[in-house]
Amino acid sequence: MKTSALTIAGSDSGGGAGIQADLKTFAAHRVHGLSALAALTAQHTRGVTAVHVPDVAFLRAQVEACFDDFDIRAVKLGMLATAEVIDTVAQLFDANPGAPVVLDPVMVATSGAKLLADDALDAMRTRLLTRAAIATPNLPEAELLLGTRIDSVEAMQAAAQALRERGANAVLLKGGHLLGGGDVVDVFADAQGLHEIVHPRLALEAHGTGCTLASAIAARIALGDGLLDACVAASDYVHRALVGAYRPGRSEVVVLDHF
Ligand code: PLP
Repeated sequence: MKTSALTIAGSDSGGGAGIQADLKTFAAHRVHGLSALAALTAQHTRGVTAVHVPDVAFLRAQVEACFDDFDIRAVKLGMLATAEVIDTVAQLFDANPGAPVVLDPVMVATSGAKLLADDALDAMRTRLLTRAAIATPNLPEAELLLGTRIDSVEAMQAAAQALRERGANAVLLKGGHLLGGGDVVDVFADAQGLHEIVHPRLALEAHGTGCTLASAIAARIALGDGLLDACVAASDYVHRALVGAYRPGRSEVVVLDHF
């Protein structure tokens, strides 16, 4: 049976982020991609113009259909939009335990659009962080989850450990938002300790990097990698996809070349 990975996330009509990025990433890793749409966005390279959250009964039907038939080796979580959706996803994991969960705690798009309701933050902390084999927040997301400022690599290391203490098995804290030139440092933390993953910063306004990184980690886990190896490989994949990135719309924003 072909190895499968499932993404439960939001659709990006502009094809750069969300489910569309996840499925391209799975395909590039030769993993069969399953998807359950938790939210739909009307979106282009300049921003999000509308959001629709389908009934949770329909989300449940999509996820149950996937668990009923496929050999799911990893699940990626992206935009979940509301506390009710988060709660439904947590219940689905209770009923279908086993597959490692990569949690991208999506909150706000680079364009500034809000992708998670304010009152859903607590559900993200208590219902999903505790189930994550690995969580992949960016700095603003980690700041909101922890209620602290993160303004240096040392603060990132403390924050990554703090997110583990709140229940995540491992954390990849993405440092792209840290100001200052030079390299981008991501901090990985698991029970063995801390590890830095470093890449040169590219001068691009890119869309969909967070989704792509999390789904590449899920693909690598599905293929048998350990968590740190999966993060190193996924981060190289995103870097390569950024080097080949192209501009699909009228703005300067680029999307990744997955292949
Ligand atoms: N749209 C959807 C459906 C997403 O899931 C995300 C991020 O996870 C975005 C948009 C925002 O992507 P970016 O911040 O890379 O522009």
